[in-house]
Amino acid sequence: MAVDSAISSPLGPPACEKDAKALRFIEEMTRNADAVQERVLAEILSRNAQTEYLKRYELGGAADRQTFKSKIPVITYEDVQPEIQRIANGDRSNILSAHPISEFLTSSGTSAGERKLMPTIKEELDRRQLLYSLLMPVMNLYVPGLDKGKGLYFLFVKSETRTPGGLLARPVLTSYYKSDHFKTRPYDPYNVYTSPNEAILCPDSFQSMYSQMLCGLIERHQVLRLGAVFASGLLRAIRFLQLNWPELTEDIRSGTLNSRITDPAIREYMSKVLKPDPELAQFMAQQCSEDNWEGIITRIWPNTKYLDVIVTGAMAQYIPTLNYYSGGLPLACTMYASSECYFGLNLNPMSKPSEVSYTIMPNMAYFEFLPHESGSGSTKLVDLADVEVGKEYELVITTYAGLYRYRVGDILRVTGFHNSAPQFHFVRRKNVLLSIDSDKTDESELQKAIENASKLLAEFNTSVVEYTSYADTTTIPGHYVIYWELLTKDLANSPSHEVLTRCCLEMEESLNSVYRQCRVADHSIGPLEIRVVKSGTFEELMDYAISRGASINQYKVPRCVNFTPIMELLDSRVVSVHFSKDLPHWTPERRR
Ligand code: AMP
Repeated sequence: MAVDSAISSPLGPPACEKDAKALRFIEEMTRNADAVQERVLAEILSRNAQTEYLKRYELGGAADRQTFKSKIPVITYEDVQPEIQRIANGDRSNILSAHPISEFLTSSGTSAGERKLMPTIKEELDRRQLLYSLLMPVMNLYVPGLDKGKGLYFLFVKSETRTPGGLLARPVLTSYYKSDHFKTRPYDPYNVYTSPNEAILCPDSFQSMYSQMLCGLIERHQVLRLGAVFASGLLRAIRFLQLNWPELTEDIRSGTLNSRITDPAIREYMSKVLKPDPELAQFMAQQCSEDNWEGIITRIWPNTKYLDVIVTGAMAQYIPTLNYYSGGLPLACTMYASSECYFGLNLNPMSKPSEVSYTIMPNMAYFEFLPHESGSGSTKLVDLADVEVGKEYELVITTYAGLYRYRVGDILRVTGFHNSAPQFHFVRRKNVLLSIDSDKTDESELQKAIENASKLLAEFNTSVVEYTSYADTTTIPGHYVIYWELLTKDLANSPSHEVLTRCCLEMEESLNSVYRQCRVADHSIGPLEIRVVKSGTFEELMDYAISRGASINQYKVPRCVNFTPIMELLDSRVVSVHFSKDLPHWTPERRR
């Protein structure tokens, strides 16, 4: 096909005319990053000039950067929570945004143990859609022929609630999958999924996963890429196959759908595509009954060219397991986004996970960067076009939906530029100690959980003298491991296994609602484990750190560990192991 490739950049040549348009858009935005940012800020400020929030800071109608930076404070979620609560309670006045807040997106970040509520407006869907529409044109530059087959993507909707004022509160992807943008998307040969909407939109996670897996198996030769949003989700699908392949195989053999799938829309869809296929059933049974599942992904889906999953940030812990099951297929991290705002995309999606950089698209929001070098103490925010290569910053955003100079909490390092738009390596999220799936547990939450659980030890005259933690992802699902060093005053009355098992559950009850939802509704986190270590272990840990150059005066017990020699030391001192036996409480959140 002759393609208009009036695009003189490393991005090219495009696979088709539609891609050429998308790539031109990327070029235009990244060449003019600073001017686009200026326009975006002016647009946000002028359209929201009459909001209560902006009027409070007396911008006097100004929409320029200088006035904005001198008058509007840099904030965190807690600062804007009163306004968010009023909107949630039904106040429809122009508090944050001149455009009506259409719903709340529930972030996996928490505040006081509950999910943060991010305001959004209708048109943000268009902006998200725009970013999605850029992903395949970029991917097609690196992987040819993706229009010759399909993508097996495990996509799910999660539970939604309403605020007291009647607004929906749900995760951003649930909002997107339920939107017409997704449901009635036009046919695009480069973006065909094996999973039907009926399966993706089914709120029952078992039925949804079962039918998505079945469709992926039926069309196994068509599958050219396999994905989920995060690496943990793809591994959960593999685990699901390990547990359910006999039933899936039986359905394929007989051509009839398992009776546990009761959703009428799924049943109707499957009745059209599920036909008896004894040959495939036999193949599946043979592959899945083997003990060794190494490379199972490429055995079942032999034409897979890459895995489409985010493995940057906290998800990097899953890379070895993904490599094991896929025989080392390339891992593509395509985009960087959040409930607050979608930020940008990876212009070199086949790069190694450790080298992934995301290019922030300057049209998505107004971006500022708080220098993060330790000890610099600088509070002067830098604009998108002015960040410096090699430096680390915390991302601060001003969105169309009414967040102004909001600290996202992500630490990014500048790795280079595409035209005049900087590219960022995702370093880490601030204050996150433990993460298995979408959960994020910080140091104070862990501390609180330890305190609550250790109350159960009081009657045994026992206290927790030291602790640390570890996100164990060697099992699927992964789980939290907490190492405890105990001081028992009366050895004749030390806490029993049952008591320590209850301590595990008590810790889980104390963790935030995202953790408990992952445990209870999504089953994406396994039971919490306490490993009691011999007395004196933490002193040995300190000796070890000092032998490696740590200063005695400044030594602090690490509250989370993942360095192999330290893990080995801890594990060699374990005297007993205890797991949570029950599930903690979780219900879809009540919105006060
Ligand atoms: P949420 O609060 O649930 O919307 O999650 C958004 C957060 O997930 C971001 O602020 C990041 O910390 C993390 N995240 C999103 N995309 C990526 C990515 N590509 N790489 C690493 N972390 C990411």
